[in-house]
Amino acid sequence: MEAKRVYIETYGCQMNEHDTERILCLLERSCYFETKDAKEADFILINTCSVREKPEHKVYSALGRYKWLKEKRGAIIGVAGCVAQQEGNQLLDRVPYLDMVIGTHAIPMLPQLLQKIEVSGERVCETSFDRDKEYLKSILPQKPLDKVKSYVTIMQGCDHFCSYCIVPYVRGREQSRSSREIIGEVKHLSEMGVKEVCLLGQNVNSYGRGLEEAISFPELLSCINSIEGIERIRFTTSHPKDLSEELIQAFSKLKKLCEHFHLPFQSGSNKILKAMHRGYTKESYLEKIDRLKEVCPSIAVTADVIVGFPGEEEEDFKETLDLMEKVQFDDLFSFKYSPRKGTRAAQLQDKIEEKVKQERLSILQEFQKGITLRKNQELEDRVEEVLVEGQSKQSVQDVTGRTRSNKIVNFEGDLGLVGNLVPVQITKAYAHSLKGEITSAQGPSICKLQSMICNF
Ligand code: SAM
Ligand code: SF4
Repeated sequence: MEAKRVYIETYGCQMNEHDTERILCLLERSCYFETKDAKEADFILINTCSVREKPEHKVYSALGRYKWLKEKRGAIIGVAGCVAQQEGNQLLDRVPYLDMVIGTHAIPMLPQLLQKIEVSGERVCETSFDRDKEYLKSILPQKPLDKVKSYVTIMQGCDHFCSYCIVPYVRGREQSRSSREIIGEVKHLSEMGVKEVCLLGQNVNSYGRGLEEAISFPELLSCINSIEGIERIRFTTSHPKDLSEELIQAFSKLKKLCEHFHLPFQSGSNKILKAMHRGYTKESYLEKIDRLKEVCPSIAVTADVIVGFPGEEEEDFKETLDLMEKVQFDDLFSFKYSPRKGTRAAQLQDKIEEKVKQERLSILQEFQKGITLRKNQELEDRVEEVLVEGQSKQSVQDVTGRTRSNKIVNFEGDLGLVGNLVPVQITKAYAHSLKGEITSAQGPSICKLQSMICNF
């Protein structure tokens, strides 16, 4: 089979990043190999996000950018992901040079669809939801990976229907993968050199619901904890309503589970939380955070928050700032509310002016910037375990990795350290990263370090 090239542009969350990885694995089997240069691609795929308006609009500008490659080289052009799922055939109508629209459940069909286009030149659209869970099956890498960490999807879709959110409509209803399938995938990744796995789902706390086997998310974590070769486990995302005591306890029991919890709160105002249909209050959220910090004092906490939801008054916004003050998040992902067609919130009347949304976002981000820097500074002089991931972007002499609490650390070292857990003394904290030095009592050479690394 003649080797061809695929170029994928990815927007949105980790789920989309992971879908792109799976698509690349799948296409390799059909002799399509990744290129980072769209100009030499035979197939250009835009993997889209529609959670907010801004990423959705990027799809159309990306398509415009690649039109000439269709005309000049006959490249096949496709759209995957949430926008594809949402728009379906309308996308083909709107963009005459588009060849393929492939929904969130249709990834396994990609090679056949691509072949169909190659043979017949027919334009294709596949957006049906797959109830047999074929789309959740493992698509495993065939050869060792040049990366030390990997995502593993444990469930797809969401049943929560928060009033602002498009996810349940574009990713479908919640479906968990069997533990056998997940464990098999993690073992395979470990054999391919992966040291850290991040388990993905819109609400991992409800993992296991609807499966024939009786298994909870903490039980799944415990199984993964015993897989040889895997050194670290992370997960995202959790819903505060379903965060169980059993999961909190897992942080004191499971050695490989990293001390980081991403727990989106969305708003600190009970009035807004109710309108968002989140199913918890500011007080119950704070209680869960207190409990997490009691069980695991070194835990880093991050979250998502939305400003400018319809009806959000100054008082409500202050409640959000107050919650931030109380929790002292290590980092925060903040968004302006973006109305999504078909969601309940899109019909609410009390819209907030764009200017006010922007002002609130800037105030909130400035406030968080100070907290993040202080939290990073707390780590100065401490020794942190760092999983080395590769060359630092800042200097060719430096490597980069992350602490168990998920903070980026850059420090001098050679690429032979990639994939190792290394003790690093933090020398300087910045807003988005830390600087450090490999450490030991004697101040060892790199060679001496190798033995220390294993015992750390
Ligand atoms: N399942 C996760 C949860 O329940 O928190 C989050 C999924 S969503 C892909 C990621 C984040 O996007 C949300 O936590 C929320 O802060 C933000 N988001 C979702 N819909 C939004 C909207 N319509 N406008 C602005 N931000 C939104
Ligand atoms: Fe969206 Fe809410 Fe589901 Fe998260 S829990 S994906 S915010 S509907």
